[in-house]
Amino acid sequence: MHRHSQAPTQPTVAGHPDTTGSAAAVLRAVLDHGPVARTLVGRATGLSPAAVSRQTADLISLGLLRELPPPSTPPRAGRPFIPLDIDTRHHVACGVHIAVPFITFSLVDLRGRVLAQENIPHQGVAVEVLRQIGGHLPGFMARHARGNRPIGLGVVTGGRVDPQRGVIVEHGLLGWRDVPVCQALAAVTTLPVYVDGHARALAQAEILFGDPRARRSLVHLFVGNVVDAAIATGGTVHRGPHSGAGDVAHLSLSDVPVTCPCGRSGCVQAAISEQTLVKRAVRDGMIPTPDLGSLTEAVRGGDPRARTLLRDRLRLIGRVVAMLLDMIDPEVLVFTEYTTIFLPELLADLYEEIAAHSRVCTDPERTVLSSRFGPQALAVAAGATVLDAVHRSPRSLYPVLPVPMRPGPSTRGSAR
Ligand SMILES: [Zn+2]
Repeated sequence: MHRHSQAPTQPTVAGHPDTTGSAAAVLRAVLDHGPVARTLVGRATGLSPAAVSRQTADLISLGLLRELPPPSTPPRAGRPFIPLDIDTRHHVACGVHIAVPFITFSLVDLRGRVLAQENIPHQGVAVEVLRQIGGHLPGFMARHARGNRPIGLGVVTGGRVDPQRGVIVEHGLLGWRDVPVCQALAAVTTLPVYVDGHARALAQAEILFGDPRARRSLVHLFVGNVVDAAIATGGTVHRGPHSGAGDVAHLSLSDVPVTCPCGRSGCVQAAISEQTLVKRAVRDGMIPTPDLGSLTEAVRGGDPRARTLLRDRLRLIGRVVAMLLDMIDPEVLVFTEYTTIFLPELLADLYEEIAAHSRVCTDPERTVLSSRFGPQALAVAAGATVLDAVHRSPRSLYPVLPVPMRPGPSTRGSAR
């Protein structure tokens, strides 16, 4: 399944010299600065004008870059420059996120913008969920791809995921072990399949599209039903030899009296997960059913107990964030959590607790950021593994993407 893995080494394609690094650098410069002149791409990448021209021509032929019409005001001297930009007209990344109660399908363009999203519920049985994904995918593409060419299928979830083998090693809440996602889905799609943990995928998305500091060092903390983290330095997400990097679910908050399914007490996930939160809100009569939307509505409606419940939990999350900041000292820590997406005023409690507990972070408002993807985070995460592979190694498109890039009949289906 290595054909589908995201090896950090850059492949060399027959007939093309190994200039993938330069191609990626040019693509990155245009992603950051586009629309942009070739001379500025040269300045940003350190490549010669000839090398920039060559890489640009290749990337245009791959449908990754496009030339825009020159500005209407002519330059004072010399030829008018033709701005380059990312070409979002042809390619889309297809993504699938597996959450505890539902599956999210998404289409994401080369700038990480969500073009389409659908959620369907599932019953939690791995074989069934993979079958559901295979069954739903063709219709989803037909409804939304609209002539865009899918360049890969990303499948992400919480828990421990091995991207090299394309296997969900362990997902505690779903009770899954060694689920061969890549193998199962490669049988039902011709697309290359990329599998990874959602926290790592969101870290990749932040590195590509987010705060520039994230490229130097980044921690991403995901707090949903699953609680997990990702660590990246120098623009690369660390996975570890056991694919276990960022598995913070069972770190200990020793003074928190909550029992974890693992048998111990005070585990981070058991203390701060959405499930814990909404079950407590139901138990105490704040909401009738364990649903996060109802709970945030209760807070908006002025229920003081619901607000206190959310604030107390954010203070616990603040302690976890402080631990991560002290352990890793990242330039930026990005935080994906749903109550603060809908009630951002609650972030003040988080920042206060971080300041009180962290030894290294003196300015939490500057270091700790909410995910820029907001309620679309799961949809972006799903496509991000594909986008990371393309942006890291644009020439990897050669084997799957003959030029020119008009969509072929096999991927069109019944697209309108
Ligand atoms: Zn535990």
